[in-house]
Amino acid sequence: MLDSLSQRLSKIVKTMRGQARLTESNTKDMLREVRLALLEADVALPVVREVLARIKEKAMGVEVVGSLNPGQALVGVVQEELTAIIGGDLSPEERSLNLRVQPPAVILLAGLQGAGKTTTAGKLAKHIVETMKKKVLTVSCDVYRPAAIEQLRTVTEQAGATWFPSTTGEKPIDIAAAAVAEARRRFYDVLIVDTAGRLAIDEAMMNEVAELNSYLKPAETLFVIDAMLGQDAVNTARAFNEKLPLTGIILTKADGDSRGGAALSVRHVTGKPIKFMGTAEKLTGFEPFDPEAMASRILGMGDIVGLVKDVTKSIDIEQAQKLAEKIKSGNRFDLSDFRAQLAQMNGMGDFSSILDKLPAQFQQAASKVSDDDVKKNLRRTLGIIDSMTPLERRKPELIKASRKKRIAAGAGVPVQEVNRLLKQFEQMQDMMKMMKKGGLSRMMRMFGGLT
Ligand code: GDP
Ligand code: MG
Repeated sequence: MLDSLSQRLSKIVKTMRGQARLTESNTKDMLREVRLALLEADVALPVVREVLARIKEKAMGVEVVGSLNPGQALVGVVQEELTAIIGGDLSPEERSLNLRVQPPAVILLAGLQGAGKTTTAGKLAKHIVETMKKKVLTVSCDVYRPAAIEQLRTVTEQAGATWFPSTTGEKPIDIAAAAVAEARRRFYDVLIVDTAGRLAIDEAMMNEVAELNSYLKPAETLFVIDAMLGQDAVNTARAFNEKLPLTGIILTKADGDSRGGAALSVRHVTGKPIKFMGTAEKLTGFEPFDPEAMASRILGMGDIVGLVKDVTKSIDIEQAQKLAEKIKSGNRFDLSDFRAQLAQMNGMGDFSSILDKLPAQFQQAASKVSDDDVKKNLRRTLGIIDSMTPLERRKPELIKASRKKRIAAGAGVPVQEVNRLLKQFEQMQDMMKMMKKGGLSRMMRMFGGLT
């Protein structure tokens, strides 16, 4: 198995902690990995170049917020950009079927032979019958292969739609005309027209489907493409896009082991929305296209979205290790250590998501407050510690009434808050003692980074 992009990036990332912004130099190595990941996913080379340029443009100067490290920040940018490019920035309307025309709404399917047009005709029919509750007629204009016409009949019946007969002796345009007439006569809402395909792009086939398209003026002209097509996806998509006013794309065989690079290539070349994807041979294997999932798949990232969102994982490892060393060597956990920990928490964002990673006694207390409260509190607490002298931080037992008053005034809080902090700190010290006894590995896990 190849390393996922996140694994590869995390290797690089180890060398570049503590950098505040994504720059040309700190992303160079990582962008090379992104490039490899795209190529391995079979994204066509010219597309890889353009996509990388776009990612780079977006990434430069991006602030590495909170406790994210630059690698995570870049992975976030890559994930976002890819998702946007393959359709995440389209509206739900743009991504769904548009059948709002005078019935019958015609759907024309075009694509190479074996792309999955006939299967998709059955899947679409089923989808429209079942979820849109419309009356669907199908017809095959594949006059070169009798078996293809029969195949459409079979899937149409499985879909609960009606098949309009055609034969190899007829001309595609005549078949189309007869089917439209039948659809009007019997008040079908939708007519799905299946067409012939060649193994390679061929002038005669292109002209035939283009003629059918001009005649039918479909509500949807859908380009059906095999997700396994790899590098060829670009040329095939370009040829169909130039010849036909495509309204959308259906990506078939997304259940295969391709990394899905064809999705990116085809979307990039045509600019048309990918509306559905086929995920099995049977008619139930049909889903609305999910740009975010496909972007993850292209990058081989798997859980990367979760990883990036789970900022808790990026708590500074060095800090945690130093702290662990300190405890192990018998040194006391002081208020400076406490401050460092709190500062990390402050950068962690969604507090409730890290709750379950805290020790039980903390969970109980923390679950009673909201994220906002926690953040506000943390900021105040940091302010209090900052108002102490180094000696006070090292030896909190020195902090008696007069020092408390001075510290409270410095931080702009009532004295009670200083008291509360000292109490909190004591509890934390107890916890540290407990961890010293045996829970060290647990703490390391709790503060462990993404490695
Ligand atoms: P056409 O020549 O474009 O009409 O393609 P077909 O509909 O005849 O499909 C070609 C082959 O691909 C058939 O064996 C189908 O069962 C298979 N196929 C089509 N769509 C999918 C899909 O989404 N997943 C899988 N696994 N196989 C598919
Ligand atoms: Mg067919």
